[in-house]
Amino acid sequence: MLAQLPNANALPALNLAKVEPILLRAKIDSPIVTSFGNIPERAVLLVRAEDKDGAVGWGEVFGNFPVHGAENRAHLIRDFLAAIALSESWDSPATAFDALTRKTHIMTLQSGEPGPFAQAIAGVDIALWDLVARRLGVPLWRLMGGERDTVPSYASGLNPTGFEDIVMQKLKEGYNAFKIKIGFGQDTDFAALNGMRALIGDRELMTDVNQGWGIETACDHWRAYSEFDLKWIEEPLPADASIEQWKRLADQGGSPIAAGENLLGDGQFDAHIASGALGVVQPDMCKWGGFTKTLPLARRIVDAGQRYCPHFLAGPMGILASAHCLAAAGGTGILEVDANPNPLREHLTGGLPPIDSGIMTLPTGAGLGIEPDPDFMKAHRVG
Ligand SMILES: [Mg+2]
Repeated sequence: MLAQLPNANALPALNLAKVEPILLRAKIDSPIVTSFGNIPERAVLLVRAEDKDGAVGWGEVFGNFPVHGAENRAHLIRDFLAAIALSESWDSPATAFDALTRKTHIMTLQSGEPGPFAQAIAGVDIALWDLVARRLGVPLWRLMGGERDTVPSYASGLNPTGFEDIVMQKLKEGYNAFKIKIGFGQDTDFAALNGMRALIGDRELMTDVNQGWGIETACDHWRAYSEFDLKWIEEPLPADASIEQWKRLADQGGSPIAAGENLLGDGQFDAHIASGALGVVQPDMCKWGGFTKTLPLARRIVDAGQRYCPHFLAGPMGILASAHCLAAAGGTGILEVDANPNPLREHLTGGLPPIDSGIMTLPTGAGLGIEPDPDFMKAHRVG
């Protein structure tokens, strides 16, 4: 049977007592470098949901960029979403997702902030699904009808220079697929790609332009960059480029095109899936959709013959949520795991599951299967 959201009548009702944002920050030695700007420190915005019977669930909200945007998302949860979540009983997290979306619709228009609201709702949704799965005593991938507890994974977020030590470390940890950022001009990009090939040989290599090219530049570059035998080239165009432009680029052949972390809503994703231009579709479930929207979307991607490869680059809750969604959805996708040093990812939950020959095995515990360390959380909490 194909993975899908469980029916509400198979789930215990939610009667929430508390929905709380918990914002953590950590300093890093060197910034994350992208073609659109740098990320000088790391933020992780958690959502903790507690039911009246004491059951707890955890979620995570996108909070990478801009660096202080996470505070805004935390306020949206505290000021608006918590009250809506506590206002009635829910037969499923999906019902709560619909109500949260509907009841904040006018606010998103008034504030001009559909993105931040969508991100905050996504984090609440993940926390509610975690809570429900923990109550039922099953891992989320199984609750979602999945048939496997393993996901292929890659080491992501490598800067265009100074990546050597991290790559060697990640090879030692068991990774055999890597993604490096480009879009800094051909000299820098090719030096980075040649350097990566020298380190990893013919292991899988992906690149991310982070929306740094326009259509003409992308078409000019496509063949030469594809020569590096790339599994995909990510966001070569701005996310809002027309479908015609994405199709024109796909007609160049060469490496598959990846995108999706900056799409929002079923309509945008479905237009891209239907166009067939993207070989790899990358929704970020902490940025839009949570499990409620992302699992059905992932199934549509896989059913269309495209690869569902979750985007995520912050804390362990978001990584594990993405891993469960990928495990449940099936297909040939690969999990993004940030390779850059980040104390919040490394220590909040005692470390991610180990990688063996490029494969992550999900924890056996209920829900996401991981638990934040209260002392570590307290030491890094800023909001
Ligand atoms: Mg990206």
